[in-house]
Amino acid sequence: MGKQCEPPNRAPGTIFEIRRGQLAARSRDTATRDGAMLGALKTNRRRDRDRAKAELERKYRGNAARLDAYNTAPDDERSIEYLERAALDRYAVLRAIDDARSGGKRDEELKRAIASAEEEHDMRRTTRGTFDAEGAARDATSHFLLRLASCRSEEHRRWFRENELELFKYRYGELSLDAKMEFMRANGFNGYARASEKEVRERRDDLRDVLMADNEYRQMCRSLKTDGYLGAREYEAICVKDASDASSWFVVGFEEVCSLVRSRRAYLIGGNAWIRKETLEQLVFGRFKTMLNKMVAEAITLFKKFEEKEAHRLTPLLKSVHNRRSGSGYDFQGEDGTMSIAGIEATQESFPLCMRQLYKALKEKHHLTHGGRRQLQLYLKGIGLPLDQALVFWKTEFTKSPDCSAEKFEKDYAYGIRHAYGKEGKRVNYTPHACGQCIAADPGVKDAHGCPFKTLTSGVKDNGARLHELLGTLKISGAKSHAIVEKATNMHYQIACGMTFAAIHDGVEIEAGVHTPHQYFHESRKILAPPTTNEAVLGEVNAQSVAA
Ligand code: SF4
Repeated sequence: MGKQCEPPNRAPGTIFEIRRGQLAARSRDTATRDGAMLGALKTNRRRDRDRAKAELERKYRGNAARLDAYNTAPDDERSIEYLERAALDRYAVLRAIDDARSGGKRDEELKRAIASAEEEHDMRRTTRGTFDAEGAARDATSHFLLRLASCRSEEHRRWFRENELELFKYRYGELSLDAKMEFMRANGFNGYARASEKEVRERRDDLRDVLMADNEYRQMCRSLKTDGYLGAREYEAICVKDASDASSWFVVGFEEVCSLVRSRRAYLIGGNAWIRKETLEQLVFGRFKTMLNKMVAEAITLFKKFEEKEAHRLTPLLKSVHNRRSGSGYDFQGEDGTMSIAGIEATQESFPLCMRQLYKALKEKHHLTHGGRRQLQLYLKGIGLPLDQALVFWKTEFTKSPDCSAEKFEKDYAYGIRHAYGKEGKRVNYTPHACGQCIAADPGVKDAHGCPFKTLTSGVKDNGARLHELLGTLKISGAKSHAIVEKATNMHYQIACGMTFAAIHDGVEIEAGVHTPHQYFHESRKILAPPTTNEAVLGEVNAQSVAA
């Protein structure tokens, strides 16, 4: 049996062996040919890629690596998906800047917010410090798209200009002096030259004298002091030092700066106008702002021209950019006036876990960091707290802290609240955060925002003990609590939240799932206080609040 199964012995050279040899030779030939074709294809692709890269380099290299004045519209061929992503990413970066500004962030904090938004939305023109042609192309494309998307209403135009200017300032500040000069040369900022060491040495005494006599400069130096005090001797020492620092000075054509000479921000020395680097920055920013105003105004005409032609592709995309939000799938928002300050306390049982956590932190610390303020402010707006009540509510809580006087509140926090209600900045009626946004947040140790189903389980090695504990405070324990924690540990945060809802609402579920914290609230009110009762409760609570 075994023998029968063995292949028969065949002498070499039989017809079988010959065929097999021919086949092997043929497949070797085919493989060689295929290999050669594949190699050629790869070489061609690499060549095409190199050519495209060189073309992008040529187009975008003209500007300093980190900066573009956006004088020329990109004409690269891109898919509609690429354009859509680019426009939305630019919008997200500008929105992050707007939020940071409205949250009172300045200087270093604002820079950090911009850097992280650029990173998050892949909007950088450099990769590890070197020029990235593809990144620069994406930056330019997204700028032009958003310029077009923002040109149709004055509010959007203003919002776009303000935040683009902030982005420009940040990027300009990141440049080396050489790169700044390169940018100015490339963009027609002519007539500005760096003062040489020799010139500065020769003019040192004159420069010191003009600085000593410059009140604006004195004020600027004073503002940099933490105690705000600047004595005469100390000021003189600063002037002597700065007068000898060549990197602080630029020599400018007189005709470029007539108005600056009149306002004594340019000094006439030896027939030339000298300006400080801070003044140069103001000139560059002023010039960019003027260019931006003009370009945005021109975009209106451009938009009208292609609106019809692009009716099925670009036009809908551009028209929708300012209305896009990370999909909540639920757009109910409480009517102004359906919630009062006392009602917030009275309806705590309907708050989802994220908002209970924030509200508790606010009550305990009388303060919330920016992310927490924003998440809770928009949620309260979503459940119907009107602006005037919101201002009173936040002021009352914040000023309970000895670190926050009424003046400080007005100066540092009131703007953010009005902004959330669309009364400041871009004047957009912001939608409350969706669960996706809360889950995507990355709160630090001092923060209370985000989604607790994530923050208490992700990267935490306690087997969900803190989440169990928290669920215990809602009177959920045993098997239900374990099932919720397990869902959260497996990163099904919204499902875990829906299970929590069911557990505290006698098994009634939110059919559509949990999409936003304020949707959770409204679903809960439907069960715990159906309309008529609800109105009565809120009316009663409001009455009590007025009486109090
Ligand atoms: Fe809040 Fe949504 Fe998280 Fe629930 S799933 S806690 S509503 S963020």
